[in-house]
Amino acid sequence: MRGEPGTLFGVMRKRRTILAVFAHPDDEAYGPGGTLAHYAMQGDAVHLLTFTRGEAGSLGVSKELEPDELARLRTIELKVASEALGLSSQKIVGWPDSGLASMPFEDGVGVVGDALRLHEPDVLITFHREGVSRHPDHTTVYGWVMEAFARTDVKTVARVYGWGILEELCKPQRPERDMASIPQDEIAARIPLSEEAYQRKVESIHAHVTQITFFDRLKEWFGDYRSVNDAEYFELAASRVPQPQPVVDDLFAGLPA
Ligand SMILES: [Zn+2]
Repeated sequence: MRGEPGTLFGVMRKRRTILAVFAHPDDEAYGPGGTLAHYAMQGDAVHLLTFTRGEAGSLGVSKELEPDELARLRTIELKVASEALGLSSQKIVGWPDSGLASMPFEDGVGVVGDALRLHEPDVLITFHREGVSRHPDHTTVYGWVMEAFARTDVKTVARVYGWGILEELCKPQRPERDMASIPQDEIAARIPLSEEAYQRKVESIHAHVTQITFFDRLKEWFGDYRSVNDAEYFELAASRVPQPQPVVDDLFAGLPA
């Protein structure tokens, strides 16, 4: 029997693919971890590219550890967190924590461009344009991702989503942390979190043992953390394929099946 593309006997289309690009080990977990788990659970390929090993971390036990030791531990923690989320792959570039803004712009764009060629994602996820916590590493990575998206000739690459948090989640964290919320009118995707996706997110947060005091703070601020994690929110940072609605509940909405 002759196969037709897309049929059981023909060439199957590649898996739907997400590439998440972040600055620090734990950005993926405290960030859109539920969404990453959601798509991994559906059988989609979800890859993670992290630029630093997190050696400049200052939370909890981090400040008592030498940078090399902290980097070693956080590299392991990210592996465990990625397994909890069900990711297809994760990679750390190993550039200086809190030093990304000093790295050559072209080099950063080049690293993201290489990852686009390697993984051929349909969707990219990074930070909201203001960097959520406004960490300069976050906004620097956002800039690299946007430029790599603009330049890439990889045909599959359709959209960049910037993960952000609602104003109601930012407010209790100020003035301790200068948080940037995602404005309501910028929300382009709301991904509801199932109980399992949420549990995997919490498991991935717990994998970041050296950073766990931040989870304790979140629980102090919000009490029931699940109550502020019924969904995760994204801006549409760039797009080559329009969304079918202004606000979607699926990052692949309107893309070729
Ligand atoms: Zn970060």
